[in-house]
Amino acid sequence: MNLQRIRDEILEFFFPSRCVFCHRWRGKGVRFCKGCRKALPYAPGPAAEQSLAHLNRCLSQLYYEGSVRASLLRYKFGGQPGYASVYGELLADCLKEHPGVWDCIAWVPLSRRRLRHRGYDQAELLARELGSRLGLPVEKLLRKCRHTRAQSVTGNAQKRRSNIAGAYQVPEPEGVRGKRILLVDDIVTTGSTLSECAKTLRAAGAASVTGLTLARKRE
Ligand SMILES: [Zn+2]
Repeated sequence: MNLQRIRDEILEFFFPSRCVFCHRWRGKGVRFCKGCRKALPYAPGPAAEQSLAHLNRCLSQLYYEGSVRASLLRYKFGGQPGYASVYGELLADCLKEHPGVWDCIAWVPLSRRRLRHRGYDQAELLARELGSRLGLPVEKLLRKCRHTRAQSVTGNAQKRRSNIAGAYQVPEPEGVRGKRILLVDDIVTTGSTLSECAKTLRAAGAASVTGLTLARKRE
């Protein structure tokens, strides 16, 4: 548990919390209010699943819009790593509706430069929250070996694909061989990043890769 996390938990113990989505003050310890539980833009049934190259399928619990978008921006750029516990609950709910069998959980890692800047890897925190809920091992299978422009400012799908091509490596292929991997990230938009990671894992011998993100773009 890192220091920021401990600080968040101490603050939460003494003060009423804001809901991670609507950002309103709620009761002590209430970080996901009843109103948001009901009204979030959930991706229903088959809309939670997308097919992407190199992945079995990609699952997402929410649409990336409104309070979900605002919440994820605070999580990533507003120094709110504590949001991961609420997000982890939503990811676990998504898998209850779309079950599968996996050997381990991995995540789409940040480059070392971006990690230094942000102080935490948002996808890793999601993977760890989910791992503790599902009782599955969480493993650092991928490394981002090249710093790339943020995909969000890179433009169309083709540009995103070439921006990210060859950016990931599997440092220890023996940890990947034959594994059915659940690959976690915060958002999927065009899917280029998840596809590139899945391609890298498959090339290292992974048996299958399923994507799981908190949010997806509405088509
Ligand atoms: Zn709320």
